[in-house]
Amino acid sequence: MASGDDDAVIEWKVLLCADCERGFGRSSRAKDLSCPHCGCSAPPHLLSRHLNPADAQQAIALANIPLEIRAELTKSMSNSRHKEQKSKRINADDLPVILRAAADENGELDVDSLQVQLSIAGIVMDGEVFADEAAVAGILLNIGAGRWRILD
Ligand SMILES: [Zn+2]
Repeated sequence: MASGDDDAVIEWKVLLCADCERGFGRSSRAKDLSCPHCGCSAPPHLLSRHLNPADAQQAIALANIPLEIRAELTKSMSNSRHKEQKSKRINADDLPVILRAAADENGELDVDSLQVQLSIAGIVMDGEVFADEAAVAGILLNIGAGRWRILD
């Protein structure tokens, strides 16, 4: 049943894990603030608050650039030089396509629907790991246990 809470303004918090120090986003309604990257449940540091999920996305991406994005860039550059990678890696262009296919009309998706789309795309990867990478890249926002929202 809908409650009056639905009218409350949702804030997007950008949090920094106390353990692995990676950034992630949670809505102000989220009760579970454990780190989606390492599972650490120690209280995360609050980096910033945003009213707009796109702003939160940017802040998360910025927080994670040194760790993940640079590796991703390096990887895709070496990919174009050497075509020797055996397993199908996700490239940045595939992400939005797969996520949109998995999402409902509200742009939200869960592990199960994501897993289905990964299979269709021929990517052998755990849906949760995939979503985690997408969250690190600032494409998804974790909005609860096993649920994400597309941020574009
Ligand atoms: Zn962590």
